[in-house]
Amino acid sequence: MSLVAEIRDVSKSYGNIQALSEVSFSVEEGEMFGLIGPDGAGKSTLYRLLATLLVPDSGSLTVMGHDTVKDYRLLRRLIGYMPERFSLYPDLSISENLNFFASLFGVTIKDNYELIAPIFSQLAKFPDRPAGKLSGGMKQKLALSCALIHRPPILLLDEPTTGVDAVSRSEFWDMLASLRKHGITILVSTSYMDEATRCDRIAMIDHGRILRTDTPERLVAGLDENLYNAVAPDMFRLLSGLRTLPEVIDCYTFGAALHVVGTNAFSPEDIVRKLAGMGIEGVSIYPAKGVIEDLFIKLTRNDQQ
Ligand code: ADP
Repeated sequence: MSLVAEIRDVSKSYGNIQALSEVSFSVEEGEMFGLIGPDGAGKSTLYRLLATLLVPDSGSLTVMGHDTVKDYRLLRRLIGYMPERFSLYPDLSISENLNFFASLFGVTIKDNYELIAPIFSQLAKFPDRPAGKLSGGMKQKLALSCALIHRPPILLLDEPTTGVDAVSRSEFWDMLASLRKHGITILVSTSYMDEATRCDRIAMIDHGRILRTDTPERLVAGLDENLYNAVAPDMFRLLSGLRTLPEVIDCYTFGAALHVVGTNAFSPEDIVRKLAGMGIEGVSIYPAKGVIEDLFIKLTRNDQQ
């Protein structure tokens, strides 16, 4: 496998805000690579650097063997970039937007239509509708079609599913998966931790630093040990009660339950008894399955200590 993107010791600041600190990772050809982290982690900054729109303070970024600073002209033709914010012209129609992006790259819509057809098919039914009047999910489909129209070998998608409803999010990931058969390497960022499992590998980023890079499966391996779900009629008292116990390392809200990280001395039966002694009744504690969000909490907790 050859490397499509290589990011080496990259740092970038805006005035005195350090957006990225010595970031390093690489992306292999044909991979679906996820950059996962909360708002402000540095994802968009890294995308702007990869898209040749910013210059790093130190370190280097190479895309398809070309340096993003020296070879920016060449790279702009090779990269398909979908920025975080709406990149389309709201007053232009669907077909005008697509034509415009095609003309920027010296191609026509027909040249690569078969690549975008599965994504564009619903939009093609109303070509004259202004892009600004589309739903969130439809806008994303059009933006993706525009980023793909010159058939780039590498796609940079910056938070493409932010603000999109759950069904459209899932559909969008299915579309990305289907692009892989064309051999396109995809670098996609998200703040939705559950989307990590859609990627071959992910880099977890927080406060401008890479915390871990690996496959989602390997990252969560071993997390289940001493991880429990806890529920009770009074969840607030349960959370406060658990946090006072020496057998509890951490406890946080997770969906409708709490996730509890216990020490080796944690025994669900004993803990239920102790909580009952504090007047917290009806508690149920049972093993939980660790996911990327748990790892994020664990890694950032260790950071703070
Ligand atoms: P993310 O995409 O993960 O939300 P960003 O790369 O947008 O993260 O931001 C990283 C940090 O850099 C944040 O603290 C953000 O406020 C800051 N930042 C981003 N862009 C600018 C800018 N143009 N000027 C000043 N600070 C910025």
